[in-house]
Amino acid sequence: MEKLNRYIIGANASIFQKIDPETNVEVFMPRNDIELKMAIDFAKENDLPITSKGGGSGMSGACTGASREKVVISSMRLKKIHELNFEEGYVVVEPGLTPDELNYEIQQVKPNWKFFVAPSSRDIATLGGIISTDGGGNDAWLAGTMVDNIQEVEFFDYDNNLIVVEKIDNDVNKAKITCSDRKLEKQLKEKDFTLLDIAGSHGVLGFISKIKVDIKPLPEAGKENYAVIHANNLNNFGKIIYELIELDIPLTYGETIVEARHPDISGETHPPMFILKYPTEFDGKIKDICENIENADFTSIDLKKFERMADIRVKMAKRNPPEGFQMALFEGYGIYGKNLLRYEEIITKINDTLRKYTFEPFIKFGHAPSVYYEDNKKIKGIIMHSREKRPEELTPKIVFDAIVDLVSACEEFGVTPKPEHKWPYSKNTMKHKRLVELTEVLGKKFNPFLLDCKLDELADLVL
Ligand SMILES: Cc1cc2nc3c(=O)[nH]c(=O)nc-3n(C[C@H](O)[C@H](O)[C@H](O)COP(=O)(O)OP(=O)(O)OC[C@H]3O[C@@H](n4cnc5c(N)ncnc54)[C@H](O)[C@@H]3O)c2cc1C
Repeated sequence: MEKLNRYIIGANASIFQKIDPETNVEVFMPRNDIELKMAIDFAKENDLPITSKGGGSGMSGACTGASREKVVISSMRLKKIHELNFEEGYVVVEPGLTPDELNYEIQQVKPNWKFFVAPSSRDIATLGGIISTDGGGNDAWLAGTMVDNIQEVEFFDYDNNLIVVEKIDNDVNKAKITCSDRKLEKQLKEKDFTLLDIAGSHGVLGFISKIKVDIKPLPEAGKENYAVIHANNLNNFGKIIYELIELDIPLTYGETIVEARHPDISGETHPPMFILKYPTEFDGKIKDICENIENADFTSIDLKKFERMADIRVKMAKRNPPEGFQMALFEGYGIYGKNLLRYEEIITKINDTLRKYTFEPFIKFGHAPSVYYEDNKKIKGIIMHSREKRPEELTPKIVFDAIVDLVSACEEFGVTPKPEHKWPYSKNTMKHKRLVELTEVLGKKFNPFLLDCKLDELADLVL
């Protein structure tokens, strides 16, 4: 059983699959703070680093701790709801709960209330993992990412100090810090430590043990319109996103199909295209955007057609090419600002890079407009996912070289690679610098490989 745990708890959804389970020296699945502290003590006594593990659905491989000797602490048994407060609109929960599990419990009491962060992986991703990657879902345009929906986080560092970080004035840049070790509390305050530091920290700061998150009632059913927009070319497509952002249109659903090399999809949807739902009073503004862009076609649709389009879009990630199989070589691109106006150039560069390594572009789709944080700045743009046709001759080297080249292409264009994960290994981001600085104070024993790994080490992990 112990051996099995090393395999099972070591599994993850990323391309970094070649992990030696023997390097998971000990695996803990604590049920409460006492057991959690014992697990941290064990790691300390044996001078081993710790990798925290949620649902393993992260696409960056950060929850693997690589093939270095370590202790793994899983949140799979930390699923308690400590407080459900509808009056003040929050819940206090343990980190192992998924959004689906949390919403089920909330809706047992009040069916029209919910927690508003909904990644597509919401049935498996845990709240601890989602804050550690600052995840978002297709409602992020209005609801924000995880950090926007959190009021307080508690975590333990390697010395078993409990650190509580509370958002002040509902501002992600302001926090009250409380810590059992007064000296550490002072150091963190001097560094202006906030929830934004925990958001996207990939487990390097400590083990998150408790989270206070916002819950809200669903908006009252009002009058909403449905539409599809056919952009007819990629630069028009980017321009439409640019304008929707400029005019701050409160879309309650904004999904896109950027390209689709499958007759069953392209025949019915004609990408590049948008599937939209929005308050009726914004109908005129959206039509105006399209009228001012040559060749962009706006069409009002009814609920039935909207549901049909949304269904095609959501099933794209599971659909294979007419011949062969799809794979997510490089899952996400965050494209924003003036870059939206040269969308065709960016897609051409991405597709040329894919082809250079024998990956045939298959489909691209994404949430737009959407938001994510980059180095503490809220970015508004598209989070675009890409799926490729799996080459017949596939080696770990091809996969890894292609990804490294795609990251360079992103850097050249100012595109954010994998916005859900901020490509955590990239050493030239402000986020990386900040995490290095913070781990100097908090100890360097949580997920240290993430901040100091070499490309060769990562390449070895690709299956
Ligand atoms: C099919 C699919 C669809 C997806 N869709 C989306 C999407 O729409 N939006 C999106 O944002 N992401 C999406 N993702 C990515 C993934 O679901 C998120 O990154 C998710 O937030 C990871 O949560 P997890 O619990 O699985 O964490 P894991 O993968 O287990 O870990 C992720 C990171 O969090 C750290 N961590 C986990 N728990 C703790 C803890 N208690 N304390 C400290 N650190 C911790 C780990 O060390 C690791 O660094 C998708 C993934 C898949 C496979």
